[in-house]
Amino acid sequence: MTTSTPADPLVGRMRPFGTTIFTEMSALAARTGSVNLGQGFPDTDGPPEMLAAAAEALRSGANQYPPLAGIPALRAAIVAHEQRFWGLSRDPDTEVAVTAGATEAIAASILGLCEPGDEVVCFEPYYDSYAASIALAGAVRRPVTLRPGPDGGYGFDEGELRAAFGPRTRLVLLNTPHNPTGKVFTAEELALIARLCREHDVYAVTDEVYEHLVFTDSSTPHIPLAGLPGMLERTLRISSAGKTFSCTGWKVGWATGPAPLVSAVLRVKQFLTFVNAGPLQPAVAVALELPDSYFDGFRAGLQARRDRLVAGLSDAGFKVLPSAGTYFVTADITPLGGTDGVDFCRELPARCGVVAVPTQVFYDHQEQGHHLIRFAFCKREEVIDEAARRLRTLA
Ligand SMILES: *Cc1c(COP(=O)(O)O)cnc(C)c1O
Repeated sequence: MTTSTPADPLVGRMRPFGTTIFTEMSALAARTGSVNLGQGFPDTDGPPEMLAAAAEALRSGANQYPPLAGIPALRAAIVAHEQRFWGLSRDPDTEVAVTAGATEAIAASILGLCEPGDEVVCFEPYYDSYAASIALAGAVRRPVTLRPGPDGGYGFDEGELRAAFGPRTRLVLLNTPHNPTGKVFTAEELALIARLCREHDVYAVTDEVYEHLVFTDSSTPHIPLAGLPGMLERTLRISSAGKTFSCTGWKVGWATGPAPLVSAVLRVKQFLTFVNAGPLQPAVAVALELPDSYFDGFRAGLQARRDRLVAGLSDAGFKVLPSAGTYFVTADITPLGGTDGVDFCRELPARCGVVAVPTQVFYDHQEQGHHLIRFAFCKREEVIDEAARRLRTLA
């Protein structure tokens, strides 16, 4: 008998994924009474119309299983929103899937499309769920590094991207506007990615949860990859209510795409969660139908808070990289004598009472991001101002 019970019952493919950096840093913030600019969640509520619709739905019996693909009103609102802002046309009956946040849409896309050994081209640093979802599918990630360029903004090497594509490439997983860098991919970069998708006949899965957070001083607007020639028929476009409507705890997301791709997502989702957030679905439909003024005001509020935090970081002596969108800004710790972001972030609460996260944990090539850390500015102005005051004491 050679059967033995391993000390760690966890499957091998999940072993590399320990406690996330957010858990560690949030615990550190709580222990030290620090201002927590680590995890990216807002500290105020979303639009009152949306909250009222949710309360009303709870009271009026919308508490049982909704349809697998989502309630018709939400699917219609998702399609109308995509048409209004991005000019994309999808069929609400066959080309939309409502999911448990963008996270489930990403996981179900990869699990539904990738055979073991298939390759996923992505950009590093990447959102932390990407690596885990790719590993769960038994697929292989092919990360292309985003590096700060001479002008400060992040870019990538065209040769590196071309080299990441091969005979086993199944899909490209693209996040724009990009967390953690605050980069918004340009029309030129997207055209190259689209060309490679067509040449290699692969799918694209796009994570656009920050679609409404591109600041007015960005050199490029947000451009959905699905709108480029030949891409509508091969792209799953993912977004979520969490970031746009300040309700990250609701976990209402969606994927839109051609019917066969959406069907693959639903096949998997059916056995992960089946359905989710029944009474919140009508409320998100209300939010998606809010006038343009809501989306403009939301962006302007975040942009003002970005500017307050960036001023504090610059005064503190960081080299601040430009953030054209999202909830985040990254900073280079080298001018402050830092060489390792993990050490720096572990010491920062004791030095000045602020928590940030090291971005190196979001790279396969960790040395590329050892000197970079990320701050979230999706917090109330007084919280940002207090963080900025504390950070200035570092100088
Ligand atoms: C927050 C975030 C998500 C997760 O969205 P949920 O709707 O909360 O699942 C996915 N991708 C990126 C880039 C994010 O920042």
